[in-house]
Amino acid sequence: MSDCPVCGAVGSQPVWAEGAFVARRCDHCSVVHVTPGADGGRGEIFSEDYYRKNYIAFEDVRLDYAQKLVARVLDLLRSSSRTRRVLEVGCGPGYYLRAFQAAGWDVVGVEPAPFARRYAHDRFGIEVYAALEEVPRDELGLVTFFDVLAHVPEPFSLLRSAVGRLAADGSVAVKTPCHSAAMFAALRLVSKVTETRGLLHVPSQICHFDAGSLRNLIRAVGFEEVKCAAIRELFLPVRWRDNAQVALYTRGLKWSGLFGMLPSMLAIGRTRT
Ligand SMILES: [Zn+2]
Repeated sequence: MSDCPVCGAVGSQPVWAEGAFVARRCDHCSVVHVTPGADGGRGEIFSEDYYRKNYIAFEDVRLDYAQKLVARVLDLLRSSSRTRRVLEVGCGPGYYLRAFQAAGWDVVGVEPAPFARRYAHDRFGIEVYAALEEVPRDELGLVTFFDVLAHVPEPFSLLRSAVGRLAADGSVAVKTPCHSAAMFAALRLVSKVTETRGLLHVPSQICHFDAGSLRNLIRAVGFEEVKCAAIRELFLPVRWRDNAQVALYTRGLKWSGLFGMLPSMLAIGRTRT
């Protein structure tokens, strides 16, 4: 049994298993951790082809969604920092940073995938670095992780390093799927009949949070006040059996009932201790 990648504790309970994959819930911070993770194949997953199919093919929809999400973040933040400079870790092709730019923020990104990094630069003129250590040490008012922390092998240390770049009054925003213990319990039953790992984004998603474990993580890197809001995805690219892409563009509440199993959440950490 391995240590929890979020809090480092040792005790955990199995909550789901399928084929070679096992999900365990940490007794201490309640994050669910799936092994084996996809570290080895990350370069293959986040290829040019991946970004073209899942992002650039739906660019107008993605940009529209990014603008709405960023508006939500700024609303929850209520501009707690005087420094209007944002760092997005795992910025992909730069759609969220483009939305921050449009809202009057200075932006900088980190993205390990070379194609996405070049794309964000060439398309939107955004400075994007391959790793956090390369980012100039300007003071930041906000760091964001949108659908990123769940995919990295060590979310705690990555979040802590990024938060270390913030101005004293800076904030953090994290968006991630909400995969609750109840969801794992339900899928454990379903997996006796059919494969469920696609719904859990396994193996690309390594750590699975719910509102409780996400709050625990953000508090652990030094934030006193954490707001957590459920969000409805307006755009869902669905990977069908043999990789055919089905794009569902949904508005407002209309489809959210159908995708009740796949909610996301947005957490904002403010006021550091
Ligand atoms: Zn833990």
